[in-house]
This record gives sequence, C-alpha cells and structure tokens, in this order.
Amino acid sequence: MMYEKYVDLLKEKSIKITPQRLEILRYLDKNRNHPTAYQIYTDLKENNPSLSKTTVYNSLEILNKYDIINTISITGLETRYDIKNIIHHHFMCKKCGRIIDIDIECPNIRKTLEQGHKIEEVHGYFKGRCRECIEKEIDQYGS
Ligand SMILES: [Zn+2]
Ligand SMILES: [Zn+2]
Repeated sequence: MMYEKYVDLLKEKSIKITPQRLEILRYLDKNRNHPTAYQIYTDLKENNPSLSKTTVYNSLEILNKYDIINTISITGLETRYDIKNIIHHHFMCKKCGRIIDIDIECPNIRKTLEQGHKIEEVHGYFKGRCRECIEKEIDQYGS
C-alpha cells in the first residue's frame, strides 16, 4: 500500500491521520527539490480541486512541529520544505535557484555528540553556482 509508510510516520508521533497530510508527505517524498508551500499547494490542487490553501499550510505547520518534515530558509526569502530523513546540508545555486542536498560527515557533529548532546537538527547552507550552470557557461563562452 503506497501510503503505509506515511501512515506509520503519523502514527509514530500520535498525530491525526488525514488524507491531506498523507498526500503532502507523499509529495515531499517524491519531490526532493525543496518546494515552497505554495508550490506544494498548486501541484496537489491539480488532482484535488477541493484542497484549500489553509489546509496545506496548516498541515505543513503541524508536520514540521512534530519533526516529520523540515523547513529550510536558505533563500532568505521564503520557507522551503524537506521530508525528514538523514541529516544533510543544502547547497543553493544562485544562478538557477536549485537547492541540492549535500551529504555530510561533519567533524562538528562528532564533537557535539562526544560532549553528550543529542543533535536533532543541523542546518548548513552553502551558496554558489551548481555544476550544471558552470558547464553551461563554459559551453556558451568557451573555456
Ligand atoms: Zn545552477
Ligand atoms: Zn534537503
């Protein structure tokens, strides 16, 4: 069953299971491009014409509050959403605007754990130009 894993996520945190919350989780799981709330809303609306913006925004707030999803403020302008999985950093391309996941093996995390703390969130934001944009520039202007 395709929603089972999301049902489990909600059950684990003892929060109410609603079709909208399941849809949002499935959407975020399938779209790992860190969408905005508005993007999530407009995409889901296509197949659920009765879906309201408020429902989407409220659901995102609850899912975030219970640590099932993450918010990212890398752009400085808007909140982006990410389904929670393993801790990772984010790289934003200033040219095309893509936000790419960066796997980390961070020495500071180890130090923090060694001091007996428990890390639940790590936010590392890097900005620059992505490989695709750099390659396009080389093609355009020659090397
Ligand atoms: Zn780029
Ligand atoms: Zn991410």
